[in-house]
Amino acid sequence: MTADLRRAVPRTDALLADPQLVTAAARLGRDLVKSAVQSAQQRVRDGEIGPDDVVATVLRELPGTASSLSPVLNATGVLVHTNLGRAPLSAAAVDAVVAASGTTDVELDLGTGRRGPRGAGALDALLAAVPAAEAAIVVNNCAAALALVATAFGGELVIARGELVEIGDGFRIPELLVSTGARLREVGTTNRAALADYTAALGPDTGAVLKVHPSNFVVRGFTRAVEVAELAPALAGTGVPLVADVGSGLLRPHPALPDEPDLQSTLAAGADLVLCSGDKLLGGPQAGIVLGRADLVQRLRRHPLYRALRVDKTTLAALEATLRGPVPPVRAMLDADLAGLQDRAAAVADALRAAGVAADAVPSTARVGGGGAPEFELPSAAVALDARFAEPLRRANQPVVGYLEGGRTLLDLRSLAPDDDARLVAAVREVAARWT
Ligand SMILES: *Cc1c(COP(=O)(O)O)cnc(C)c1O
Repeated sequence: MTADLRRAVPRTDALLADPQLVTAAARLGRDLVKSAVQSAQQRVRDGEIGPDDVVATVLRELPGTASSLSPVLNATGVLVHTNLGRAPLSAAAVDAVVAASGTTDVELDLGTGRRGPRGAGALDALLAAVPAAEAAIVVNNCAAALALVATAFGGELVIARGELVEIGDGFRIPELLVSTGARLREVGTTNRAALADYTAALGPDTGAVLKVHPSNFVVRGFTRAVEVAELAPALAGTGVPLVADVGSGLLRPHPALPDEPDLQSTLAAGADLVLCSGDKLLGGPQAGIVLGRADLVQRLRRHPLYRALRVDKTTLAALEATLRGPVPPVRAMLDADLAGLQDRAAAVADALRAAGVAADAVPSTARVGGGGAPEFELPSAAVALDARFAEPLRRANQPVVGYLEGGRTLLDLRSLAPDDDARLVAAVREVAARWT
């Protein structure tokens, strides 16, 4: 590099004094802006950009927020994608998070000026949504709810062998339960359990009977499971609580998902407590929800471990708004009609072809995901592109995650909010522009 060029690189302090970069630093922090400035200066030295382009380059390349998490368009056709943060929050939930994120009355009764019950609004919303429940608490996730139940009720937990589930990424429910110090009393076989297996296993050390929904697999053939409705009467009078982990968080039965248990029906069938995740089919923030008998919920709330698992104000705000606000995105995606999806795919493909990108609207298959309804296929519509789009789309300024099938990149529209179609088109055009 010549001395002339080196001199031509604008100085860091001069750049950081640029009014636009001062504004950016006030929003993102000086360190983030400074490192963007330094990488732009390097590009001047490398001859990639001119000295006058530094400020514009920095402004273009600064992240949207001070967090490195960026919004991704989910075109995988998997509605609840764990690697993409599971349920996208509704606009109502996002507004509620923003409103609650400063100082807020999460644990203060503004009427009396005294301490109030934490997150009362979210708990009331849960009880309104699931009338069969007497009381509710919210913890960090469903795993936390299981850990709290096992810790507070433990001793011996009676559970069917066919319900010793691995959820994903090596997370095994039996290992979690045992890690709390509880002992498992396994009953039945992998494929079959009978009511007598459960009743024979009850003893003075029994802390609870646990039912776990096998969310992500199906056992077929010579099988038998004991349902909550059959277990509950057998446990009545024993004092042993029946706890059901339903996983997905459906509030009520969904007509298209007959095999997914829901909170209201499971309690009505006789479970003493139900547990679920907040960010699967419920469509809200990451949370573990516990609903059911008031005395049992109270025992969990009073347990010292609860304090280590409870959720923050923004989660409570998002959960309440998910429950009280308009239909959350996951539910809208699940219920979206095929003709509407086909229209969107056709419109996206048309817009791309008009921009010179080869694209076709094609039929596709979407899934619930998040370890729910593993065999349930949702008819869907996708835009098919050349296979070489998949990787650069993931790395685009607006990342898009689709999938490869039949030698093409498919972008499924069921897992994408309709409002995002224009951003999808823009992201594909941005990538295609590099090749022309
Ligand atoms: C997903 C799932 C869990 C784990 O839930 P997290 O909220 O991810 O902790 C536990 N049990 C069942 C049955 C599940 O489907």
